[in-house]
Amino acid sequence: MTERGSNAGVEEDSGGMGNEPTDSSAFGNRLSERAATLSESGIRRYFELAEERDDVISLGVGEPDVSAPWGARVAAIESLERGRTSYTANRGLLELRERVAEYLTRWGLSYDPGEELLVTTGASEAVDLALRALVDPGDVVAVHQPTYISYGPGVELAGGEMLPVPTRAADEFALTPEVLSAAGAEEADVLVLCYPNNPTGATMSREQLARVAAFCREHDLLVVSDEIYAALTYDGGHASIASFSGMRERTLVVNGFSKAYAMTGLRLGFAAGPPEIVDAMTRIHQYTMLSAPTTAQYAALEALSSCGDEVDRMRREYDRRRRYVHSRFEEMGMDCFEPTGAFYAFPDCGEDDEAFAEALLEEQGVAVVPGRVFGAGGEGHLRVSYATGMNELKTAMNRIETFLVSR
Ligand code: PMP
Repeated sequence: MTERGSNAGVEEDSGGMGNEPTDSSAFGNRLSERAATLSESGIRRYFELAEERDDVISLGVGEPDVSAPWGARVAAIESLERGRTSYTANRGLLELRERVAEYLTRWGLSYDPGEELLVTTGASEAVDLALRALVDPGDVVAVHQPTYISYGPGVELAGGEMLPVPTRAADEFALTPEVLSAAGAEEADVLVLCYPNNPTGATMSREQLARVAAFCREHDLLVVSDEIYAALTYDGGHASIASFSGMRERTLVVNGFSKAYAMTGLRLGFAAGPPEIVDAMTRIHQYTMLSAPTTAQYAALEALSSCGDEVDRMRREYDRRRRYVHSRFEEMGMDCFEPTGAFYAFPDCGEDDEAFAEALLEEQGVAVVPGRVFGAGGEGHLRVSYATGMNELKTAMNRIETFLVSR
C-alpha cells in the first residue's frame, strides 16, 4: 500500500507524466475490420516519394496549380471580418443553393434549392453520403474503371460490394452498354459514373451517354454521377446523364468547387437530386458534419456570382497545355488519345506502368501516377496531370523524352 505523501506510484496515477509515447497501443488489434483492411491511396505514395527530393517536377497530383479566384478569396476574408463564423443551415446557405441551382441550368439541369440541393464538405463528402444513403450490406455498386480512387473504398465503407467495370482504351475509356454487360452490371443496384474522367481525361458525348442511360433504365440502376470536372471540357460542352429523359429521377449529381474554381483546400461541393435521396443524405450529414464550412460557402457564393471569367481563363490555359502535352506524347511515339476534359492525359507506356513511373521518378525526377492505381484497364498507362505551369510542363516533357530515348 502506498502511504500518503510518498512518491511511489505518483507517476502512474497523477496524469501529469502519463502521456509519453510508448511502443504499445491498445488500438492495434481492435480496429474495425473495415478500417484495418482499407488500403492506402496509391496516389499519395507517389506524392510522398516526390516530396522527398527537391528536383522533382510533379505531374502526379490532381490539383490546380493556381489559387482560388481573388474575388472568392476576398469574400471569404470579408465573411470572417463580419464575424460569420457560425454554422449555416444543414443544407448550406440558401443563397448559395439558389446560385448552385442557377449554375446547374447551364447543363440543362433544374433543381429546387429548398429540397433538392445539399452543400457538402467537398464533392468527397457528397459521394460518401450518397453511397451510405443508398447501399445496404451486399448491394452491388458498379464502378467503371480506370476511375477516381475513392469510389471503391466508399462502397466498401458503406458495406456494399464493388463491381469493377473495365472500360477500354480502344473506346477512349468511354463507358458502353457492352462493357457494362460484360461485367454483369445488369445485376448492380447503383452505378457510379465519373465523366469528365479522372484519370483518363475522357468525356462522353450525348450519344454515348444516351446508351448508358438506356442501360440504367432497362436494368433499374440508380446513378451517382460525379461531375466535378463538368466545367473543364475542351471539345464541346459537358453533358449530364441526369438531363436524359427518365434519368433525373434515378440520378444523384455530384459537383464542387475544387477543380473549376481552384478551391481544393476550401473543401466545398454539392449534391443535386430528387428530394428522397437528398433528404437521406442530409440526415446523415446533419450528424456527421452539421454543415459545410461557412467561410468556404461565402467564397463559393462569390465564385459563382462573379468569377466566371477567371474560370474561362483557367480553362483556356488548361486547353493550351492539354494540346501541348498530347502533341509531345505523339511526337515521342507514346500512344495517347487527346483528352477532352479534366486536366489529365493518360498515355500508354507500353510496359509495367509501376516500374515505368518509378524509374522515371528515379532517373529524371518526374512524378506521374501509374495507371493501375485507378483500377482495371489502367495498367500500362500513366496519369499525367497538366495542372502544372507551362514552363515546368515543358521541362517535364523534355525529361520524359530523354528518359524514353535512354531506354
Ligand atoms: N471526384 C473526382 C473525380 C476527383 O478527381 C476529386 C479530387 N481529386 C474529387 C471527387 C474530390 O473533390 P473534392 O475536393 O471536392 O472533395
